[in-house]
Amino acid sequence: MSLFFQTISVDEAREIARQLGSPAGTEDVPLEMAAGRILASQVKADIDIPGFSRSVVDGYAVTATDTVGASDAIPAMLALVGRVSMGIHDNLVVRPGECAYVPTGGALPAGTNAVAMIEYSESLGDQVLVKKPVAPGENVIERGEDFTAGVAVLNSGRRLSPQDTGVLAAVGCSVVPVRKKPLVGVISTGNELVPVGSLPGPGEVRDVNSILCASFLSSRGCIPRMYGITRDDRESLRAVLKKAVYECDAVFISGGSSKDDRDMSADLIREIGEVLAHGIAIAPGKPTILGKAGNKPVIGLPGHPASAFIVLLVIGNLVLQGLLGEDKIRSCTVRARLARNIPSTKGREDYVRVIVNDGLADPVFGKSGLLNTLVRSDGIVRIPAGREGLEVNEEVEVILW
Ligand code: AMP
Ligand code: MG
Repeated sequence: MSLFFQTISVDEAREIARQLGSPAGTEDVPLEMAAGRILASQVKADIDIPGFSRSVVDGYAVTATDTVGASDAIPAMLALVGRVSMGIHDNLVVRPGECAYVPTGGALPAGTNAVAMIEYSESLGDQVLVKKPVAPGENVIERGEDFTAGVAVLNSGRRLSPQDTGVLAAVGCSVVPVRKKPLVGVISTGNELVPVGSLPGPGEVRDVNSILCASFLSSRGCIPRMYGITRDDRESLRAVLKKAVYECDAVFISGGSSKDDRDMSADLIREIGEVLAHGIAIAPGKPTILGKAGNKPVIGLPGHPASAFIVLLVIGNLVLQGLLGEDKIRSCTVRARLARNIPSTKGREDYVRVIVNDGLADPVFGKSGLLNTLVRSDGIVRIPAGREGLEVNEEVEVILW
């Protein structure tokens, strides 16, 4: 076997990753548990929202034509014939030349089509002076203006935000059909790894990737299943990999992905399934494996935690998108100007960690394997494969962590 990677481009890797995962089943959850979940079918409005034309201000419901030409000097004088109470629909009818008091959110009485704000009106016992004209529909939300009964409110595949769940409440969707959370196996390999609760001896390091990976999976709405640390030993790695593939919807394995005779992850994935790519033209994160066993994605992440995290963000995310049946990944970005030049190697897509302050993105230089760069930075800037670097003052998009 070649000692060198046959790397593929990040675009190719992302395309493979996008195709790898397919969604698990669906389940119903109570609306109060639905934020962050992926909607599994379209939701339609069951009724008109609002169900009645309502005022958006405190004021007097009027016939708009009665107020034409009204001013401080020559106000329109209208007879006050009633008051609308919240949550009550009475049979109040207001005729031309009349008005009724209506609070914010109250139903417009029959015969009226606009609301004169209280700030531009004066009450004189059973008369009201309106000092500013209102156009038909002014200060009113019409029945069904927000959502008409039967219209699609949210589509399948959407990750539900808190505001989405508010809208679902308005349309009476108290039980929400969502995608089941995919179960994703997490394996760390390396003879040097010790569990987080242990004190590393000489040459040993704590297992960072298991928790990094699990937290990322949870944050994206998956359920991580931890398989712990496996030594660089074919038999044990094969056994744990097989078990994880059998039990889970996908598996993420970190370490052992380089072209070294001890790095056997790719060989073992090939043994139980298929390796679709080994080596991506990305920095950091070149020693990445994209594979599958049966129809389950098996992803080999680089051992260096910083590299593993970038690969999770840039490529792993797309595998999860497929598993979750999510329509699009909504990442948080901000535009900023570069505080310094960033050199890069042509032919490779670089992801540079930056600190963002007052619209300036300052690259965090230093060895990319250092963990501190992950916590000192606010996000990453992508340098396309075709560029030899980015220049100071250039406007860039920062993908915030
Ligand atoms: P490898 O990909 O196995 O060659 O590992 C590359 C580097 O990442 C080595 O320095 C490993 O010690 C380190 N590494 C691998 N896995 C982990 C892990 N789970 N936690 C922390 N460091 C790791
Ligand atoms: Mg290793």
